[in-house]
Amino acid sequence: MDSVSFPYDAPVSQTLFDRASLVTPGGVNSPVRAFRAVGGTPRFMVSGSGPYLTDADGREYVDLVCSWGPMILGHAHPEVIAAVQEAVARGTSFGTPGEGEVALAEEIVARVAPVEQVRLVSSGTEATMSAIRLARGFTGRAKVIKFAGCYHGHVDALLAAAGSGVATFGLPDTPGVTGAQTGDTIVLPYNDLESVHAAFHAYPGEIACVITEASPGNMGVVPPRPGFNQGLKDACAKNGALYISDEVMTGFRTSRAGWFGIDGVTPDLMTFGKVMGGGFPAAAFGGRADVMGHLAPAGPVYQAGTLSGNPVATAAGLAQLRLLDDAAYEKVDGVSERIQALVTEALAKAGVAHRLQTASNMFSVFFTDREVRDYDDARKQEAFRFNAFFHSMLSQGVYLPPSAFESWFVSTAHDDAAIERIAAALPAAARAAAEATA
Ligand code: PLP
Repeated sequence: MDSVSFPYDAPVSQTLFDRASLVTPGGVNSPVRAFRAVGGTPRFMVSGSGPYLTDADGREYVDLVCSWGPMILGHAHPEVIAAVQEAVARGTSFGTPGEGEVALAEEIVARVAPVEQVRLVSSGTEATMSAIRLARGFTGRAKVIKFAGCYHGHVDALLAAAGSGVATFGLPDTPGVTGAQTGDTIVLPYNDLESVHAAFHAYPGEIACVITEASPGNMGVVPPRPGFNQGLKDACAKNGALYISDEVMTGFRTSRAGWFGIDGVTPDLMTFGKVMGGGFPAAAFGGRADVMGHLAPAGPVYQAGTLSGNPVATAAGLAQLRLLDDAAYEKVDGVSERIQALVTEALAKAGVAHRLQTASNMFSVFFTDREVRDYDDARKQEAFRFNAFFHSMLSQGVYLPPSAFESWFVSTAHDDAAIERIAAALPAAARAAAEATA
């Protein structure tokens, strides 16, 4: 971190961070927001409009995080805001069924062919936790396969690190998660079908499901190799396990039907969040009707939520999804391609070894010259270069994810002016990356 200088301070954010740190662990309500990976003072944002965020010190940034994915139409989109205002005026929560949740479920079912039925929840974590419980309840089996570097929220059983060999059980990844909670989790290297076959061979009739990010974005963007997702599906089908595709990040972002719309591999269960909530806490899991029919009250597998299907959240999500037509995806893809080209050009000009990896309009930059196929590859990059790059961009008014292991997100609102601002910032950031030392 020595090579990183912080070109300007952020006194109001710093004061807020100091206050926050007294009353909230680490000063934040979700760890990556604290800038621990890149150093410096996290910016406390006060407003967002289109592609821009404004911080408490009054500085404006082009936002390339988009709330970690949800804000695909940009901030404060007038039609989403109008839908929220209309809904909120009628009350904020009823604890009863309502039409908004039916309409949102219908929209999801209409967009994503494998989803015959869907249950709404409030976070991606809840969606994956519930999908795994359902898979276990449906199959009567205990074991779960997940992949190193794939993040599915902070579900105890999924906060597991790889054991020492293929098809060994996961070890707790954090204090507070017990060996018992991860003892049925098998953590395998991503993009490695052989290890999946080996695990099914080692535990015949014991594996309830394989859960994978449809296209991972939580170790940086590491798309599945051709045939990988189909191979997972086939291995599950052959062995009586369920294939769960986690589309919390990719759902309704990478295409109208998420990653399913791109690779066409049919999961048994899918999980969603982020874009479908329009910036509110709304998420979902869904899939085959015969599997979903095992959920309470239709079936015996218990799952519930006081705020599930909240009327304001569903109104926001529905408004956002209804605006996401083919033209909107074309726009986001186009914005993404333009920014990708600018980043590549700037880093190449500065002589920085890098690899830009994409999954539709999601992308990230790895500071390495080798293809990144799994978490081990991702960790071999020169992350210190990202930190210098990040702070240079921040100082010039461009807000990147504060970690080298995250996807960048763009929106339909990123117009020429926003892209020009990014273009103007990139040469100095690329030079900072070139000059950075470990
Ligand atoms: N699954 C994936 C693929 C995610 O990217 C995330 C969050 O980033 C989650 C699940 C958890 O979602 P949440 O943060 O809403 O609990």
